[in-house]
Amino acid sequence: MNTQVTTHLESDVMVITVNNPPINAGSIEVRKGLLDAISALEKNSQAKSAVIIGAGNTFIAGSDIKEFSLPLAEPHLPQVIEAIENCSKPIVCAIHGSALGGGFELALGCDARIALQGAVVGLPEVTLGIIPGAGGTQRLPRIIGVEKSIELICGGIRIKADEALQLGIINKIVKEDLLSNAVEFARSCKKNRIRDISTPDAQASDVSLATQKALKLGKNRPNIHKAIEMIVNAMSMPIDQGLAIERQVFQDLRVSTEAKALRHQFFAERKLFKALSANEQMPQSIEKIAVIGAGTMGSGIAMACLSAGYSVLMLDQNESALANGAKKVIDFYEARVKSGKMGLEKADAILKNFTYSSKWSDITLVDLVIEAVFEDMQVKHEVFAKIEEYANASALLASNTSYLDIDAIAAKTKNPTRVFGLHFFSPAQVMKLLEIVRCKMTAPEVIAAGLQFAKRLGKTPVISANSFGFIGNRIYAAYRRQCEFMLEEGAYPEQIDKALEDYGFAMGPFAVADMSGLDIAWAMRKSQSATRDPAHRYVTIPDTLCQAGRFGRKTGSGYYQYLEGAKKGLSDPVVKQVIDEASAAKGIDRREFTSEEIVHRVLLAMINEVAHLISEGVVSDATDCDIALVNGYGFPRWHGGPVFVAREMGLQRLSLDMELLAKQSGPGFIPANLDKLFE
Ligand code: NAD
Repeated sequence: MNTQVTTHLESDVMVITVNNPPINAGSIEVRKGLLDAISALEKNSQAKSAVIIGAGNTFIAGSDIKEFSLPLAEPHLPQVIEAIENCSKPIVCAIHGSALGGGFELALGCDARIALQGAVVGLPEVTLGIIPGAGGTQRLPRIIGVEKSIELICGGIRIKADEALQLGIINKIVKEDLLSNAVEFARSCKKNRIRDISTPDAQASDVSLATQKALKLGKNRPNIHKAIEMIVNAMSMPIDQGLAIERQVFQDLRVSTEAKALRHQFFAERKLFKALSANEQMPQSIEKIAVIGAGTMGSGIAMACLSAGYSVLMLDQNESALANGAKKVIDFYEARVKSGKMGLEKADAILKNFTYSSKWSDITLVDLVIEAVFEDMQVKHEVFAKIEEYANASALLASNTSYLDIDAIAAKTKNPTRVFGLHFFSPAQVMKLLEIVRCKMTAPEVIAAGLQFAKRLGKTPVISANSFGFIGNRIYAAYRRQCEFMLEEGAYPEQIDKALEDYGFAMGPFAVADMSGLDIAWAMRKSQSATRDPAHRYVTIPDTLCQAGRFGRKTGSGYYQYLEGAKKGLSDPVVKQVIDEASAAKGIDRREFTSEEIVHRVLLAMINEVAHLISEGVVSDATDCDIALVNGYGFPRWHGGPVFVAREMGLQRLSLDMELLAKQSGPGFIPANLDKLFE
């Protein structure tokens, strides 16, 4: 008996229910069950039509992605849809929650679609490196045209039922009683297959415009090109030919390294939240938050929390900093309303939850305090002492420090079990990554509360032990160091940036350095100079640039020169000279680098650092490093992250290449135990 698909009769209508919690994913069992149900419908003389509906909170909200890594077992979804289309009796799809991916393709195979108000439909396959493989690219254009299909399919866009109704994708919306309304609807429904409709003609110029937009948004990925090609086919070829080509392309893309990398990210990101829902310990609930410090990070964190519906008090000891920070927050929501991204009512409701103050006594009632004051241990100690004096004894206390030792901060508090790190990235209201830092004494329920908090913020969390630079900044430092080595050996900033941008990084490391300012890292290097091992390889180029007052974009020059108002920096002969002189001073014969070599050395350097992080116990799950790099550092998601790359290379090749990197890098490069990456 198939437990994932059941049928029953409501007089003359057969109700086919898909029940595969939590999202009714289209699994092999679901596909088998549907096929059997359709065959039963055909044979049942009492049933004149049918309704397919999902049990629980949703229709089929996607396919079972785990199956995508294996040879797909029959029946495949196109076979199920073919059976629906060939069935002599009309079949209505009843949608609540979400009909996504294969779920939406199944709906498009039915004779009509009825949805509950608020339901969502979409074909998000491109986000997994593939294209819809069960007719999505052929049936959707037949209803909404090629241009709109390119926009929705290539953007992986989900639309609400009312928009879908307007576009003609669904036939009816009901406010309640989806099943009984669908049954009633089925009684008057006739066979009406989308396959029999012709795709509306489109102007070549409109298609070309939609194509350009999609390629730009989709970062020019191969699957986006393919999706466009398939959608355009829907205009020029018979549907069966279009379907056959779509299926073949889907199968080819499904087993591509890119799709594998995207699945790897997908599962890695969901793993922590899964662990959270399996956790029996109820994390402490958080509703009211105090953010201490109204600077760059404080105001961004306040926005992130406010947008997630929390009530936020922002505190700063400096009145003008407080006023500036508060203005930033208020301006942010006003700008969203002006640009139409947020309704006025919503913005008003959010801002009602926002207060700011310079009085410590105002933090007494909060559940969570997030400290984002100056990066100075003495200041942090003073601030935590104030927090302890005024905050509720049960409030959780987090620091947003980037590099300071949170155990040392916690050690001076009366109750270190409630102290932990919440390391946001700038701009905090935008960046997805949130490093949750577990200190020696942090209670498990505090970490669980941190995860719950991250989830509500819509952030992607990773858990790090308390260690200098935590996860992301540690790996990024190894990456940047390797890039500086290559400067000394023969490459120039523009060449390294271009190689990494072509690989898919949002920005190259030198463009990033210029954007964030070279002075902060310079100050840190100076503070560490006394403890630095003089035998270790040390690149002086950034110091020389800083000594010349070249702090990056803000001073008009850094690794590049910036003309007034220009978006991008220009190559600078002065920088070339600084670099050439640095090489000469060390007696290095400069040599040519290829883009491949640059990217490979960077990846190896990151992989080595990840292996160190695992060995040192900073991360307990290697894939957290991939999540951090992709969500916080612009690592191209479709390459999966350094751990994914390492596993694709295999231990043998990786070990050989790493030996070479160790030689090239010289003293100070510590090879890690690479076995750790494969455990
Ligand atoms: P900032 O200088 O912009 O803001 C710090 C704010 O703290 C100032 O408004 C200051 O008035 C306030 N402040 C200082 N001492 C205070 C006290 N005793 N009581 C109350 N308020 C006080 O700094 P920022 O860039 O927002 O960084 C804040 C923290 O976040 C630092 O620990 C930093 O390392 C960390 N961080 C920064 C970034 C970033 O990109 N800027 C990213 C991640 C983490």
